[in-house]
Amino acid sequence: THFGYQTVEKGSKESMVAGVFHSVAKQYDIMNDLMSFGIHRLWKRFTIDASGVRPGNKVLDLAGGTGDLTAKFSQLVGKDGKVILADINSSMLNVGRDKLRDRGLVQNIEYVQANAEHLPFEENTFDIVTIAFGLRNVTNKDNALRSIFRVLKPGGRLLVLEFSKPEHEILNKAYDFYSFNILPKMGELVAKDGESYQYLAESIRMHPDQETLKTMMNDAGFEQTTYHNLTGGIVALHKGYKF
Ligand code: SAM
Repeated sequence: THFGYQTVEKGSKESMVAGVFHSVAKQYDIMNDLMSFGIHRLWKRFTIDASGVRPGNKVLDLAGGTGDLTAKFSQLVGKDGKVILADINSSMLNVGRDKLRDRGLVQNIEYVQANAEHLPFEENTFDIVTIAFGLRNVTNKDNALRSIFRVLKPGGRLLVLEFSKPEHEILNKAYDFYSFNILPKMGELVAKDGESYQYLAESIRMHPDQETLKTMMNDAGFEQTTYHNLTGGIVALHKGYKF
């Protein structure tokens, strides 16, 4: 395959993920709506509400892609706040920047190309860091969690919105079938790229479940770590504080 993801070792995950997101960037938003039947909008709304964001806050929307969370945060932090949309992938950042500028969202947003594992920000910078459907794609998740912990202010919090493990076996089976049989076909049909959506299904199955991710966050230094299952655990929102 042009990504070679079936055979490659961990070391090349980064270039494979880069290939996926360069390839899907332009169709990313429409595919999100189709694949999730629009439900990703509710998951994101839940994340914003759980963040406790306030006017004047400084927010990092990490792996922010096409900027759905950034757009909402930008309105909520107001003119005294700031939102940084950071992503490793220039194609995703470009699509995000164009979309938000078209909506007239300009005054308090900055765009930064960065790897979650090595964030180019000073210690104690952000009130809130979000990473939505991003952690799964990061090669070394522990490094990313530590890097996020470093840039949060004391009292600041991390919200991880990510695919997780469905709570019931029947839902788990149905979801597996959907991911491996239907998703790649939809990707082929709409985005002309079945392989990227095959990767998506694989990466969801490989991702740590709710309790494992909670432990990883605790190991990185987060406290009062909790999670909330959404849509039967297909997605979970984890939240942890730096004190
Ligand atoms: N947060 C957006 C959303 O919820 O719609 C985009 C999610 S998209 C599925 C995953 C994003 O993670 C892509 O834009 C990809 O480029 C980015 N990404 C992957 N690995 C990354 C890394 N190591 N550091 C920063 N961003 C990364």
